[in-house]
Amino acid sequence: MGRAFVYVILGGGVSAGYAALEFVKRGVLNGELCIISDEPVAPYERPALSKGFLLPEAAARLPSFHTCVGANEERLTPKWYKEHGVELVLGTEVKSADVKRKTLLTATGETISYKFLIVATGARALKLEEFGVSGSDAENVCYLRNIADANRLVNAIQSSPGGNAVVIGGGYVGMECAASLVINKINVTMVFPEAHCMARLFTPKIASYYEEYYKSRGVNFVKGTVLSSFDFDSDGKVTAVDLRDGSKLSVDMVVVGIGIRPNTSLFEGQLTLEKGGIKVNGMLQSSNSSVYAIGDVAAFPVKAFAETRRLEHVDSARKSAKHAVSAIMEPDKTGEFDYLPFFYSRVFTLSWQFYGDNIGEVVYYGDLSDSSTFGAYWVSKGHLVGAFLEGGTKEEYEAIAKATRVRPAIEDLTELERQGLGFAVTVSEKPVTLPPPIEVNTSGLLLEKPLYAWHAAAGVILAASVATFAYFYGKRRRRW
Ligand SMILES: Cc1cc2nc3c(=O)[nH]c(=O)nc-3n(C[C@H](O)[C@H](O)[C@H](O)COP(=O)(O)OP(=O)(O)OC[C@H]3O[C@@H](n4cnc5c(N)ncnc54)[C@H](O)[C@@H]3O)c2cc1C
Repeated sequence: MGRAFVYVILGGGVSAGYAALEFVKRGVLNGELCIISDEPVAPYERPALSKGFLLPEAAARLPSFHTCVGANEERLTPKWYKEHGVELVLGTEVKSADVKRKTLLTATGETISYKFLIVATGARALKLEEFGVSGSDAENVCYLRNIADANRLVNAIQSSPGGNAVVIGGGYVGMECAASLVINKINVTMVFPEAHCMARLFTPKIASYYEEYYKSRGVNFVKGTVLSSFDFDSDGKVTAVDLRDGSKLSVDMVVVGIGIRPNTSLFEGQLTLEKGGIKVNGMLQSSNSSVYAIGDVAAFPVKAFAETRRLEHVDSARKSAKHAVSAIMEPDKTGEFDYLPFFYSRVFTLSWQFYGDNIGEVVYYGDLSDSSTFGAYWVSKGHLVGAFLEGGTKEEYEAIAKATRVRPAIEDLTELERQGLGFAVTVSEKPVTLPPPIEVNTSGLLLEKPLYAWHAAAGVILAASVATFAYFYGKRRRRW
């Protein structure tokens, strides 16, 4: 049994939805495009799962957050795909891929062939078992990556009114879930091994602002230690969390957010991998010219940093999707992907945005101890390379984005501090003179030469947050 399509998107998450919209905008014909997803629903805006989906009242539910509602574009409901002749193959896992034959084999035994494949498989949540702790299957232990996880989390919340939750991990998912649990009137303790929350992005000073705010909302922090085991009742529910520092916390529910691992396994040994993802060039094209990769699974050249990076953020998923479709359908009119990394989060009434890179010297502005608007710049090699802003207006966020893209020379850090947000606003009001692009070395990416030998770098690179977590589990378990 088999079907053939011109374009196949493997994975049905954020980037798949945005790629589908772009294909349709560019005139894909009826029956040419297929999306295969192991999730039972059409692509949706995943960030909603830790925000609107968990609200105690008027919670967001599908179809309200199907892609591409997050970017104020059309909302792609199942009806939309039908009307535009896009085949949605849902609830169907792809079990193997053969990039030489250009075929995918599904769990239902169907072979789907393609002319062009876009890999949009995203990432999976790391499990506690991968760090030697068992108990993930207990009904009150929750992860959060997909809609099934989110439904399970909502059930756990509703079964624990006024109860105690422990959130393991101080990254995005941990911070956003902790805020949602508080809003649901659950007592929260956050446990993580680092010295402060959001350790990959925040400085200690920025982290302290958010930790103080969380404390004011009743959240308790236990830092510098990790989970060592769970206590269970006779029904297999977790009743307490045992920490490496010897303490024990009674719980009604546990949320685990300890990092993600890109879903590359179908292509290991067939495509070049880097930074834990599928290595692509500036056209989002992998080491096989018929295969493109987008979103969390893609390691692409970031011109502004002059290096290949893999990002785990929704904006890069959306924009890489659009660019890959353009590169496939209009290669002669498509330049190299030139992306400025952008991250954001919204918790409680707080809201921040970050653009660029967090390297070099940090210059703060605004009053971090007593203000709802403050920010920071990162200056490296005499240029502005990163900007962070909490509590900004739309125009102010646009200003820091534009200023970071321009990478102005910074001669005097004290003067930058004095001007604060005004510096970005002034830079953004000037006509844009973009710095010359830095060439990113993609020489390691040999088109049409699949790697058949497993090599040391492939698939063993771990996100920094996970490395810290693993470290605390001791050398025995430091597998990455
Ligand atoms: C709870 C949560 C909150 C987030 N909040 C933010 C935020 O506030 N800001 C931000 O910038 N980013 C946020 N993110 C990150 C953002 O959602 C991701 O960067 C984005 O979803 C990546 O899109 P993607 O298409 O690459 O992967 P995904 O959206 O994960 O989609 C991958 C899809 O592929 C499917 N798939 C994988 N393997 C197979 C297979 N073998 N066969 C069939 N289907 C397969 C998966 O089931 C999934 O449907 C959040 C993520 C989560 C989980």
